[in-house]
Amino acid sequence: MRVVAIDGPVGSGKSTVAKAVAGRLGLPYLESGAMYRVVAWAALRAGTDPAAESALTDLATSLDMEVGARVLVNGADVTDELRSTEVGRAVSAVAAVAGVRAELVRRQRAWVLQHGGAVAEGRDMGSVVFPDADLKVFLTASVAERARRRSLDETADDLARRDLLDSTRAVSPLIVPDGAVVVDTTARPVEEIVDEIVGLLPA
Ligand code: C5P
Repeated sequence: MRVVAIDGPVGSGKSTVAKAVAGRLGLPYLESGAMYRVVAWAALRAGTDPAAESALTDLATSLDMEVGARVLVNGADVTDELRSTEVGRAVSAVAAVAGVRAELVRRQRAWVLQHGGAVAEGRDMGSVVFPDADLKVFLTASVAERARRRSLDETADDLARRDLLDSTRAVSPLIVPDGAVVVDTTARPVEEIVDEIVGLLPA
């Protein structure tokens, strides 16, 4: 079973690059951030207190979610709602809750087993979820480029706030995982980055 783990901050190019690498290698693509967004979306809908850790953990455990090209919660397609400003502002606090992470890490590992491998992208794919991945990549890009890439979805302030929360939380903060190759995506064509990553994969 092949696993490629791709991590990085907001706007580093994770989803674009991970999807393209998955297509090139014929592997399924797992967007782990979608799972965290589903829990944040459900918490907003239920009016759950963002500080109520056990309520958030219960929510993560009980939700019926399906993550793929579209994201379904209880059979309903919520893909577009997950990208809202509200969800973007709530998600990092939800993702800092240890119980939520434990449940979603379990779901991510189960997803990859069930699909027979993956290119998995997020914040802790190489450091925590798949420490034995065949290849670990950490994507970066300049602050200006990351803000430009995300400018239709979130403000530069929201982006900086999310990165700060994700990098400084106590549980599974965003770090360059041990053994990861750091790839700067600033001003580079996607195909060239994909060539580089595929070329790094052990035969
Ligand atoms: O990847 P995306 O930006 O959609 O992720 C949304 C949020 O989910 C991140 O800002 C982070 O708080 C959380 N996340 C995480 N661990 C992951 C993936 C996402 O904490 N593996």
